[in-house]
Parts: sequence; structure tokens; C-alpha cells
Amino acid sequence: MGFSTDAIHAGQKPDPSTGAIITPIYQTSTYVQDGVGEHKGYEYARTQNPTRQALEANLARLERGRHGIAFASGMAAINALMSRFESGDHVIVSSNVYGGTYRLFEQLLRKFGLDFSWIDTSDLDLLQSTLRDRTRMVFVETPTNPTMVITDLKAVSRICRQRGILSCVDNTFMSPYLQRPIELGIDIVVHSTTKFLNGHSDSVGGIVVCSDDRINDDLHFIQNAAGAILSPFDSWLVLRGTKTLAVRMKAHEESGRRLAQFLAQHPKVEKAHYPGLKCHPQHQLALRQQRGFGAMISFETGSLDNARRVLGSLQLCSLAESLGGVETLACHPASMTHASVPEEDRLKLGITDGLVRISVGLEDVEDLQADLDQALGKL
Ligand SMILES: *Cc1c(COP(=O)(O)O)cnc(C)c1O
Repeated sequence: MGFSTDAIHAGQKPDPSTGAIITPIYQTSTYVQDGVGEHKGYEYARTQNPTRQALEANLARLERGRHGIAFASGMAAINALMSRFESGDHVIVSSNVYGGTYRLFEQLLRKFGLDFSWIDTSDLDLLQSTLRDRTRMVFVETPTNPTMVITDLKAVSRICRQRGILSCVDNTFMSPYLQRPIELGIDIVVHSTTKFLNGHSDSVGGIVVCSDDRINDDLHFIQNAAGAILSPFDSWLVLRGTKTLAVRMKAHEESGRRLAQFLAQHPKVEKAHYPGLKCHPQHQLALRQQRGFGAMISFETGSLDNARRVLGSLQLCSLAESLGGVETLACHPASMTHASVPEEDRLKLGITDGLVRISVGLEDVEDLQADLDQALGKL
């Protein structure tokens, strides 16, 4: 089936007792059993919940994986995945991943003996030379947040397979509509469903998708043992969201392209970062590996004062963390999403004080362009 058909139907059957076309919110903590040891596959709601299972099957299908395991947030999903490793294990990570991932790995997981190397994973020679005997996984975000550096996923999966180590992609920025890492040979995909998958800025959640049965068993064990499950209501909200994922992403991306062009040519903008721009250093790779360029744009205003003035002058775009909703959001990565990254590291990644990031929403693009234009006009 095609992507939109899967988005609407995969994992969901009409409710057998009523015919309700939408999977109900099974808001229950337990299930009555027919006799001792006789039940319908549902014992306790941390362990099994039909609404959550419908979402897990839906997202697994959209990412072209066999299994999905849903968690209470994107960070809970990534933390669950990392719980498979043991003290002494080493993981290679894209240097400018989501700030929360950096905080989890460096400030929490390091305490348990995990070791991390932060590198530019778009540099494949560097990736090769960073591998160690205890390297267990390469964790990639592409395009990166917020400077839009792209890593060649086919090449990463080849390197990992040769060495017998896992590859994982945080696909939150692209969504499976625009990029499907598993089709490119990647083992594991993680998402913050909070963003494009839910799409309506009204739920926090996360998912891990994989095809390997053992990884799936481990993650279901961790999901039940550690308990950071996605609630039935949030599972239902994300299922509502994925039904329109294809049409939303198409519209997000169309406006994204147009605003990126506008910003790149604007006299007050020193530089715009967007993979769809011909001047993006990896535009060709983006064309090969993605089905579009997405709706995340960052641009350089030149100074902290300028960034403050632009962000303070926006009237339609809201100043907020997060992304992927129907509303256009603007943020200041240096003080917001990447505040937990030390300044020296931040500057090395190109996350300057003058950088502004926008997540392009679904408002009329003319209105968004006019808002950005009047805000830049204040400089
Ligand atoms: C938001 C985000 C996360 C964390 O997800 P939460 O749902 O906020 O816990 C992880 N990775 C990326 C790329 C994100 O944008």
C-alpha cells in the first residue's frame, strides 16, 4: 500500500464490539481474566494496551520497520534504547543532535559507565577512525538541529554492518513521509512523536521502530520493566495525527522551501541553512536520500541583539521551543534548545548567538513571509 493509505489504516481495524471506525481510547488499568491463566492477551495496562499497540503498528509500518515500541516522550524512547547497553559500551553520536539527547547522554548515562564520542557523522573517514572495540552503536540525526548538516545514511549503515554494530537515526525532523532510514539500511529509528507525527502541538511522546526481533523483545521488556509508557490518550492523539501526515508534510515542505528562498535572499540575513537551497553544501545528498527538504530552517542575523530584536518583533510566528505543529514556531537555539551545550562546543557547531530557527507551520505562506519581513525590517 502507499504511504497515505498506510498512514490512515495500518494497525487499525474497526472496533470489533461496536464497529467504531476509530480505535477507541482504552482508558483502563487492568483487564478481567476468564480464569486463572486465561486471558485475551491483555493483563495489565503498563504491559499491554490496545490503543498503544495500534499506534505502534501504525508507526512501524510508516517507517517500514516490523516493530514499534511507544514511550512517554522522545527522550524516554531514546533512554529506553540506551538501556540495552552495559557499562563500558561506547556509542558514536552526531555532534549537533537535539540538546536533550546531549544532556541525557553526557549528564545522566555517562554516570552509568557508557562512553560517547561526539563527531561530525557526515565525515565518514572520521566515523571509521572513531570506531573502537567496544563501540555498540552509531546514533545519527540528519539533518541536524539547527544547522541542517546531512549524514549519508546508506554509507553509515554499510560501515556499521561491516563492523557488526547497530545504526540508529533520530528521524524527528523529517518524519517517515520525507525520509525512511530503515529502507536505507539503518537498524533503528527513533522519534519524538511530539513533533510532526502528532503534528498538533497537543501531546508529548516517543517511539522506537526496528525490524530485529531481539531488539524488539528487549525494548518491550524495558518498556514494561522501566514503565515509561505512552498513555492511551496520547497514543490516540498521535494516531489522529498520522492520518494527515502526508498532506501536512507536503504543505509544511512547500512553505518551507518558499520561506528558505525568501530568507536566503533577504538583505538582513547573513546566511540561511536549509537542505533545499542550492547553496547548501549537501544539497545533492539531500536530493538522493530524502523525499523533500522539510520545514525546519535556521538563519543567521549576525548578533544576539539582532536575534532578540527579530524574535521580539514577530507577530504571527510564536516564540517557543518545539517544532512540527500546525503553528509556525521560532526559537533561539543558543539560549533555548541548546542551552545545556557548553558555549565553546556550541560555537564549534555553528550555533551562534545570532542564529534563529523556525519550524514552518501550515498558515498561509504569504502571511508568514510578511511577518518575517517586518521583523527583519526592524534590524
Ligand atoms: C523534541 C526532540 C526530541 C525529544 O523528544 P521529547 O518528546 O521532547 O522528549 C528528540 N529528538 C529530536 C530531534 C527532537 O526534536
